[in-house]
Amino acid sequence: MRYDMNPGRPPFAEGGDLFTITRCPTCPNAVIDTARAEELMRRVMLEHDFNARLKKRIHTNRPLHHQLLHLAVAGCPNSCSQPQIKDFAVQGQTVPEAVDGCILCGSCAEACPERAVVLVEPRPDGAVAADASPGVSAVAEDCPGGAAAGDACPGSEARKDAAPGGAIAPDHVGPSTGREKSLNCGLPGEHAAGRDQVHIDREKCLNCGQCARACPAGALTAVRTGYRVLAGGRLGRHPALAREVLPMATEEELAGLLGAAVDLFLTAGHPGERFGALLDRVGMARLVDSSNRCSR
Ligand code: SF4
Ligand code: SF4
Ligand code: SF4
Repeated sequence: MRYDMNPGRPPFAEGGDLFTITRCPTCPNAVIDTARAEELMRRVMLEHDFNARLKKRIHTNRPLHHQLLHLAVAGCPNSCSQPQIKDFAVQGQTVPEAVDGCILCGSCAEACPERAVVLVEPRPDGAVAADASPGVSAVAEDCPGGAAAGDACPGSEARKDAAPGGAIAPDHVGPSTGREKSLNCGLPGEHAAGRDQVHIDREKCLNCGQCARACPAGALTAVRTGYRVLAGGRLGRHPALAREVLPMATEEELAGLLGAAVDLFLTAGHPGERFGALLDRVGMARLVDSSNRCSR
């Protein structure tokens, strides 16, 4: 896998930048436009005259890695461009939310690497609990098998009859849940469940959006997408992982925070001090405060 680190730009000794931006390649997992984010970050760096201002502070034409500012853009929480070890970075985030129309196929639970999607179990007889959600009884009225709300699913019964020993046919068993995809009977007008039968454990969820992409019924949707902003990561003599500055920033907030980070780095940082060490010294709140002051 190749990362674009200031692609097509000359090295510093030939008039190039004193910062790097590492960005994911084009990737189907990206939940943000990574090229747009990189462009935004580059524009902020140039608007703040970063190259010329840093050049005055480091007095060399051959700067070392730790003297530069390293930025990263990751399209999703997989973090392939390593935002956790960059001075300032963003990670794409998208928040899934259940809406009506779920057919309890289990694809979202299968797709979630964190096992954060929990589907409410149907009753053992395959019926839909009448009180499971407001959406269930309404849709069950359309059942082509004539089932009323709370009745056993006739499609489910038919499949059990057809299977040896009355077992549930394997193609109707969710691979990870091991339980029947009981409501997905395959008949026209499938029983649909309400949003209350799909629960997302927000403690486990990393906002990667894979569950919503896997849903064939449009019953999981991204309600919010933005940038998780991280700062202060580094390797070197005193390695540390970047810390979260904002969990879900807008473009304006991202631009404001990066501008504030540049000013803090160039005015309060000691020569050669990594941005993370500076944040340890002055406190993360100072970065957030100065960003807020600039946006007022
Ligand atoms: S961080 Fe996400 S979007 Fe970027 S390359 Fe990795 S998987 Fe793809
Ligand atoms: S957004 Fe990602 S982590 Fe969260 S529930 Fe969906 S698949 Fe799981
Ligand atoms: S939310 Fe979508 S993927 Fe998940 S069980 Fe319902 S229909 Fe299937």
